[in-house]
Amino acid sequence: DPVLSLDGIEKGYNRGKANEVLVLRGANAVIQPGEVVGLVAPSGAGKSTLLHIAGLLDTPDSGHVVIAGQDMAQASDRARTTVRRDLVGFVYQFHHLLPEFTAAENIIVPQLANGTPRGEAADRAEMLLAKVGLSARGSHRPGALSGGEQQRVAFCRALANAPRLLLADEPTGNLDPETSDTVFGVLMELVRETGMSALIATHNHDLAARMDRVLRLDQGVLVNG
Ligand code: ADP
Ligand code: ADP
Repeated sequence: DPVLSLDGIEKGYNRGKANEVLVLRGANAVIQPGEVVGLVAPSGAGKSTLLHIAGLLDTPDSGHVVIAGQDMAQASDRARTTVRRDLVGFVYQFHHLLPEFTAAENIIVPQLANGTPRGEAADRAEMLLAKVGLSARGSHRPGALSGGEQQRVAFCRALANAPRLLLADEPTGNLDPETSDTVFGVLMELVRETGMSALIATHNHDLAARMDRVLRLDQGVLVNG
């Protein structure tokens, strides 16, 4: 099965009102296991809307999201919650780490929520931090880390529960170009090493060129870019 299929996704805001905006007008995509796909479009085109729908944080007005063979329109709320928690990882432009928790704890918490025993969760956090070059930073709070380091911790958190699909929304968008380049490389290595699939929104064409293929969001539909 594909990891993700989007089938005829339509989504608007303020529908039926004077300020209605139709964002997605029948978007289709299929992402196979291990594929890393870029999502490119100008600001306001609907990248976040599409990623939120793909990650079950929002619902389409019509159309189907199929994750690992399960049609989410047919699924119960409980089944959707399980898929969102176990199969999908998110990375945002701003890291959204919990400021009162250490870097390691930020990676441990989602695993505990998922029923992983604490010792095992701590080991995995340590392993992930090592992969992103932050072994020495596990006990630091986000506020004590640089922007690039915070974002690397956010990648570890997204991968904490070993998802099948990573959804990333401008994951290095708030970093300076040089840091962005390095940190993006770290993300790509993590994704490649785990063999997961990823859909990564960016307006940076250099970053998009490093992915397997690119989808462009154009007038509410996805076209090969
Ligand atoms: P992108 O991520 O490509 O910048 P978004 O998905 O955030 O695009 O937004 C797509 C369009 O939908 C924009 O015109 C935006 O203003 C509009 N939009 C997004 N969220 C809402 C909302 N909650 N209410 C009304 N309009 C929205
Ligand atoms: P259609 O008539 O479009 O083939 P269905 O009646 O089987 O579809 O279900 C599609 C409807 O289910 C959509 O209109 C949407 O409102 C809802 N839906 C689709 N995906 C989701 C989702 N991920 N979560 C909740 N509801 C969804």
